[in-house]
Amino acid sequence: MQDTSRSATWFERARHVIPGGVNSPARSFRAVGGDPPIVMARGEGAYFFDVDGHRYIDYLAGFGPLVLGHAHPRVLDAIRQAAADGAMWGTPAPFEILLAERLVHDVEGLDQVRLTTTGTEAVMSAIRLARAFTGRSVVVKFEGAYHGHSDGMLVKAGSGASTVGTQDSLGVPAGVVQDVISLPYNDVEILTRTMDQIGDQVACILAEPIVGNMGIVPPREGYLQAMRDAAHKVGALLIFDEVITAFRFGYGAVGPALGVVPDLYAMGKIIGGGLPAGAYGGRFDVMQYVSPLGGMFQAGTFAGNPLSSSAGLATLDVLREDQPYARMEQLAETLEQGILQAAHDYGQTITINRAGSALTVFFGPQAVYDYDTAKQADGGQFARFHQLMLAQGIYLAPSRFEALFVSAAHQPSDIDETIEACRKSFAQMA
Ligand SMILES: *Cc1c(COP(=O)(O)O)cnc(C)c1O
Repeated sequence: MQDTSRSATWFERARHVIPGGVNSPARSFRAVGGDPPIVMARGEGAYFFDVDGHRYIDYLAGFGPLVLGHAHPRVLDAIRQAAADGAMWGTPAPFEILLAERLVHDVEGLDQVRLTTTGTEAVMSAIRLARAFTGRSVVVKFEGAYHGHSDGMLVKAGSGASTVGTQDSLGVPAGVVQDVISLPYNDVEILTRTMDQIGDQVACILAEPIVGNMGIVPPREGYLQAMRDAAHKVGALLIFDEVITAFRFGYGAVGPALGVVPDLYAMGKIIGGGLPAGAYGGRFDVMQYVSPLGGMFQAGTFAGNPLSSSAGLATLDVLREDQPYARMEQLAETLEQGILQAAHDYGQTITINRAGSALTVFFGPQAVYDYDTAKQADGGQFARFHQLMLAQGIYLAPSRFEALFVSAAHQPSDIDETIEACRKSFAQMA
């Protein structure tokens, strides 16, 4: 057993002054057995180190942003240079303009963009904009997708086609969510039926083009196209929440790479290079509604701040020059094959969903294509797996509904070490 005394002591202090000891519930280990989470001290490339000095191979990637790994020298340089000139001014500034230009240039269908401070704000603002543009109120989204923590997005699935959502969180008034409808992902039939019934009230269809938040769930062939057709048939907008997916699976957004350009995008995570960032944008005519040009108000003291913008820009520079995507995908595929082989050898029944460099291991025999099938995977088995991997220095997100992210910093030896740890874990679970 590793000595985790300093980590435990830090976390004990955290519990007194921060609810649950964490500043975001996803960091808690409640979903994986409830041990205190590890308190980290430092990151370097594919690794991070806890306050007791233990090294972990990192597959969390900060929940997505750290596509280049920790403390990439070019990103650090960019942050240092920007910080030396003062952290922010509340005025227009070159870095935000450079990042906006880059995004507009490299993301298909992004005619204009507004930078925000988080992905939550990006999605919230894109929805407000779609409502402003269409003059309608209903948002159609999908069960099990996460779109940040704004009131309206904390809506659980309605079960039927036009079932009105109910809140996922205390403190969200019923009135806020009555215009939000959640449908099962990957079901064209239900989507089409819903839009036939209430399409004239729908402002937008909002979706992750590859879902990352019920575990990795790719769209079925033709599904994104069906979303776009269903939206446009009734004069609604299609919004892709690419907060995870943009610049993760290839250089640019994933919607166009899969053949479907949305009317609006929400982005975040990678485009901030590890600092807080978000962005929303899309069609020129729609963006003319944004204040101060138009009547849709949206703002932010720290929006487009120089540090986040320059860290994001440096990250995009490295991604564009190095094009690490094929290599990352190959490592992820090796990892996938290794885990499947280990499961086979030690009698574990698992399903792996992988898209590019991101994958999710589901404990169970069933194919996972929506939230219902994702929920059928065994949480107890995952919790055990998580604990055993952690004890061997492999850091996985502490939830069965998250992804393992392979970054550009991972080496083949890291993947081998991870597969070996996986074999030992499955041997102990058998
Ligand atoms: C992380 C995430 C968000 C929220 O972004 P924050 O920066 O945490 O506010 C929104 N949508 C998706 C798809 C995400 O993965």
